[in-house]
This record gives sequence, C-alpha cells and structure tokens, in this order.
Amino acid sequence: MTKKVLIIGSGIAGIASAIRLAVKGYAVDVFEANNYPGGKLSEIILGNYRFDAGPSLFTLPEQVDALFRLAGKKPEAYFEYKTLDVACNYFWEDGTKLKAFADLNEFAEEVETKLGEPAVNIREALRKSAFIYDSLAPLFMNRSLHKFNTWTNPHAMKSYLRISKLGIFSTMNEANRKQFSHPKLVQLFNRYATYNGSNPYETPATLNIIPHLEFNIGAFFPKKGMHDITQSLFKLSEELGVKYHFGQKVDRILVESGEAKGIKINDREVFADLVVNNMDMVNAYKTILKDQKQPKLLLNQPKSSSALIFYWGIKRDFPELDLHNIFFSDNYQLEFEHIFKRGTIYEDPTVYLNITSTQKADDAPAGCMNWFTMINVPNNQGQDWDIMIAEAKRSIIHKLNRILKTDIESLIEVEEILDPRTIESKTSSSQGSLYGNSSNNKFAAFLRHANYSSSIKNLYFCGGSVHPGGGIPLCLLSAKIMSEMIEE
Ligand SMILES: Cc1cc2nc3c(=O)[nH]c(=O)nc-3n(C[C@H](O)[C@H](O)[C@H](O)COP(=O)(O)OP(=O)(O)OC[C@H]3O[C@@H](n4cnc5c(N)ncnc54)[C@H](O)[C@@H]3O)c2cc1C
Repeated sequence: MTKKVLIIGSGIAGIASAIRLAVKGYAVDVFEANNYPGGKLSEIILGNYRFDAGPSLFTLPEQVDALFRLAGKKPEAYFEYKTLDVACNYFWEDGTKLKAFADLNEFAEEVETKLGEPAVNIREALRKSAFIYDSLAPLFMNRSLHKFNTWTNPHAMKSYLRISKLGIFSTMNEANRKQFSHPKLVQLFNRYATYNGSNPYETPATLNIIPHLEFNIGAFFPKKGMHDITQSLFKLSEELGVKYHFGQKVDRILVESGEAKGIKINDREVFADLVVNNMDMVNAYKTILKDQKQPKLLLNQPKSSSALIFYWGIKRDFPELDLHNIFFSDNYQLEFEHIFKRGTIYEDPTVYLNITSTQKADDAPAGCMNWFTMINVPNNQGQDWDIMIAEAKRSIIHKLNRILKTDIESLIEVEEILDPRTIESKTSSSQGSLYGNSSNNKFAAFLRHANYSSSIKNLYFCGGSVHPGGGIPLCLLSAKIMSEMIEE
C-alpha cells in the first residue's frame, strides 16, 4: 500500500521535500497557509513592474538541478539560468567603485588598480575560502549533525585534522583584517556574514566559506527571475503527483503515543504515515507543536537579522547599475552594532539594490527599472517600525541621491514595503528573521534543530530554521538530508 506523507508549508524546502518523497513512492499532500507556493521565494507585481519578493542572490544551482535529475527529467527543460560575469557592483561615498568580476584574474586586477590591494591577497583569501568549503561542506551541508555516524565518517576525520585552519577561533572581521591591507576590501569581504544574517564582528571566520560560493563556483541568475525556482519545482512536483492545499493553515500536528499521526486544520483531521514540517521551528513549537516537549535551548537561540525592502518602480534607466549593487555605509561596525546590539537602524545604512530588469527586460517598462531596495535591519523585537521605516526611507534616498547624483524620490512610480513584521506574517518566520538562527557564535551550527524529532516518531523537519540553515541552497539540502532518513 502507498504510504502517505503530509507536508506543512510550501516554502522551497517544503516543495523540495515533496519532490524527494514523491520520487521515493510516497503519496504527498502539502498544506500551505498562503494562496501561493514558495513562501519567501515568491514574487510581487506592482503595475507594470515585477519583483522577486525575497531571495535575489542565486548560488549552487546544482541543488535545483539535482531535483529534476532525481525525477528523471532534464533540468534545462524546466529551469534555465546563466552565470553572472559580474557578481556585484560596489559603491562608496568617496566615489570609489568596484566591480566584483566573476573572473578571478579580472577581479584581482580591478582591486589592485583601484585600491592598491595586492592581487595575491585576493587569491589567497579565495584559496582559504575553498579550503574551508572542501573541509566542512561534506560534513555540515550534506549530513545530519545529530547522527553518531556523521562524526565517525572520513569527512569528519578530515575536518578534525584541519580544525586549526578553519577559522573557528577568530571572527570573520579579524581574519579579513589580517588578510587584506585596504579597509574597503575588509568591508567587502565582511559583507558575506550578511548572507546568512550574521554579524561579521562576531561570527567565526569559518563563515569565510561563503565567498567561495560566489567567486570560485559562481553567482547565477535564473532566466525567468528567482521566482522561477519556485515555479519550476512546483510544476515538477505536481507532475509527480504531489497535491497542494492552499489557504490551509495547519493548527496542530496530531501526536499519539509518541508518534506523529497527521494534522488538524480547523476541525478536520487528516491522517498519514509521516509528517514533515517546513514551518519555522520557533513558531511551530508555539502553535502546531505547542502541547509537545519544547527544546528550549534550541528555540532560544538569537535569530538572524531581518530586512527592510522598498520595491520601487523607477521611471528612469541607470546604465551604471547592474543586477546586484551595494552602496556601503562609512561605518560598517556601527551599522552592525545597531542591527545586533541596539535593535535599531543605523542612520547611514548599507543599501543593496537588486535590479532584475537589467537581466530580464520585461520586469519593467522600457526605459524604467525595478529596484528591490533593501537594508539589513534587526529582527522584530516590538520596535516602532512605522517610525523606523520612515526614517530609513529618508536615509536610503539621501544616500542614493548623493552617490548617484540624482533625485530618486521624484522617480518612484510605484512602491510596496516589506518589513520584519510582514515577513513574519507572510511566512511565519520567527521575528521576521531571514535565515532562522544567526551564526554569531562558534556553536551556532550545532544549535539548530535536527531534521527529525528525537521524541516524536515519524515527524521530520526541513527549511531555513533547521539544519543545515537558511538560504536557498541550504534549504534544499535540508530536504535532502531529511528525506535520506526516510525509508523508500
Ligand atoms: C528579503 C529576503 C531576502 C533573502 N535573500 C536571499 C538570497 O539572496 N539568497 C538566498 O539563498 N536566500 C535568501 N533569503 C533566504 C531564503 O529566502 C530562505 O532561506 C528560504 O526561502 C526559506 O525557505 P523555507 O523552505 O524554509 O520556507 P519559507 O519560505 O519560510 O516558507 C515557509 C512556508 O510555510 C508556510 N506555513 C507556515 N506555517 C504554516 C502552517 N501552520 N500551515 C501551513 N503553512 C504554513 C508559510 O506560509 C510559508 O509559505 C532571503 C529571505 C528574505 C525574506
């Protein structure tokens, strides 16, 4: 008889789990509170402009391809992407501009010419980044940390031998200050801490693993936009027979005699052999698992930073802007102190502009651009967001006006705002954090929830708030690790 699995949430990890379990032969039903799939990986249409709502940077596309291959399909028949020649454009207030070319020689030359930073320092930084990836990815990204055999396999042995070189004992900022002579390069490489919502002045230098993804492996762009990751995987899952139930907010996971039996929605009970939860773990234990034993240590870990985004339709073209653009703050350390210690927004925040119409012309009318204008902000601790948002908008506009020498406000045709409160209300992400727990200490990787319940049989977990972490590639890997624990 076909075994049945219920998945709570159709975030990207929920969809990936559905695909993996359908391929294993399960009958899969996904219950989603929203009326659309994808959770944070969705899109917004404002008049004639289209915006990717959340994630904008795409790395490790092979994790998406792997799902099509697993189902016996050709990935390119469903989902196409291209490699970016320039990963990011960087701007500073003093007029310095840098292009992070994908080609390492070109990037090293750019940095040497513009900042006088010896090319060898860039090469060495990226060699070290590759070394950390090679040492840790097989262990931390591909296996459960909560199973004994993970710690006795050859990958673990390799990382034990390399432990002194993996950056565990210094912060990212300390390592980058040793590595680079120019403060702007330190700032540029410190920025990678934000890729998982952490603070470069606290997070271990192990997180210097991240530049390897962008520089050595590459930054990519899905030809139909980031939302196509959701759309194409959703299509595949439906072809595999996965059934989606939208607008269905699950109230409770049914547990009997220490075993997950199904879910409860309104007054309806639905039974199954397995339950997989894709909802943020903190909010899951407050709601659908509220009668169960709470893993307090894990749930009380500090959350990652959140984001404030202004989706702006801009009625002008800016040829100096590309897909990814960063306008750096002059005091990065103070900016992070505001985010992580004071719970406030610094008056001169680093501004990130993501403009997909530079790659996909139909995302904006001719001669116009779709600006996804984002700053990193603290997660929601009950601040007065309306006041903070109004002040931040002023700071962002002044900063962009100064650097781009224009009057942005007069160019904004349409606007929508996403803030920590709405990130939480739209996706159930605790405090509106983008990546679950922050990684601001060396034990953080061990303090994420496992991909299964140790106290409730047949209950599994996937998504950005569990191991191995947030961000699209890790969410997809959470589904892989989780499904490998489940029998065919
Ligand atoms: C603004 C922003 C920018 C980001 N930038 C990047 C980036 O550039 N690159 C990158 O890789 N990552 C980025 N991320 C992170 C990335 O989006 C997430 O890590 C990832 O999308 C999380 O996927 P998930 O599967 O954990 O679920 P989520 O997307 O969090 O979805 C969970 C789903 O569960 C549903 N749900 C919750 N509770 C219930 C319930 N009780 N019943 C039914 N359904 C329920 C929700 O409605 C939601 O659809 C960003 C995130 C945000 C918000």
